[in-house]
Amino acid sequence: MSNQLLDRVVAEIADEMAQRADRGEVASYIPELARVDPRRFGLVVIDADGHVAAAGDSDVPFSIQSISKVFTLTLALGKAGDRLWHRVGREPSGSAFNSIVQLEHERGIPRNPFINAGAIAVTDLILSGHQPREALGEILRFMQFLAGDSSIAIDEAVARSEQRTGFRNAALANYMKSFGVLDNPVEYTLGVYFHHCAIAMSCRQLAMAGRFLAHSGQNPSTGHNVVSSERARRINALMLTCGHYDGSGEFAYRVGLPGKSGVGGGVLAVAPGRASIAVWAPGLDAAGNSHLGRVALEALTKRMGWSIFGV
Ligand code: GLN
Repeated sequence: MSNQLLDRVVAEIADEMAQRADRGEVASYIPELARVDPRRFGLVVIDADGHVAAAGDSDVPFSIQSISKVFTLTLALGKAGDRLWHRVGREPSGSAFNSIVQLEHERGIPRNPFINAGAIAVTDLILSGHQPREALGEILRFMQFLAGDSSIAIDEAVARSEQRTGFRNAALANYMKSFGVLDNPVEYTLGVYFHHCAIAMSCRQLAMAGRFLAHSGQNPSTGHNVVSSERARRINALMLTCGHYDGSGEFAYRVGLPGKSGVGGGVLAVAPGRASIAVWAPGLDAAGNSHLGRVALEALTKRMGWSIFGV
């Protein structure tokens, strides 16, 4: 019965989104992303029993971009534990994802692991003690393991496109390096960062990979304990407060779930105890978050009564 409700709601939302004219703007500062068709839309919800409700372009891989930061944070916490918090904070930034201003005031320590500076610092920690290729392999294999799908790959064209144009990220990394926050050569850390942002996944693969966050650190189908329940709870808290940059307050207000966006137009959202959700709509709003992705998630949480703040 509840499967039927979920299937119906997901199908309805996909139909409604297909008709919307307000689709936002596809990111163009990474030239390769500007080629994506703004009419694309995919939505996948996987509930606690493993039931998959899917609609639209649910199996089309897209560039996960900053959604990868959830998984690099998970890996870095596994590697360093609470030592990670010496190099990155846990507060919302209230500024753009690629902002540099706060870094000067805060002496090179980024506000949180989801803004670009913070994610670059997290990537640097994962890289330490490895060659860039090994670190990247570790991140990719982690994604494949979580999604149960070894076909997940990096889109090299997107990685190269960002590598050629990522001057702002290079500025952030060099600035942090000047404060001693990064341990590795800046070009190595940036290379790994650009490549993990360029991982391509479908909504189905992404929703699969996010299941451990919805279920206290464990994938309920495989029984794999990915992280402790405490760590899953904390990652979710960071997604809620920082996952949408300067749009995090609005996302919490409208959707009411922990979520992480990427400039490829994807969002991974977590309904604790209930479901892992991935949506893809490439057009972005002014804060660089998927416009229809947010609209679709707002409709989903409202119709299912899934907001963490109440029905
Ligand atoms: N790779 C992108 C960047 O560094 C990620 C940004 C994002 O998805 N918000 O600019």
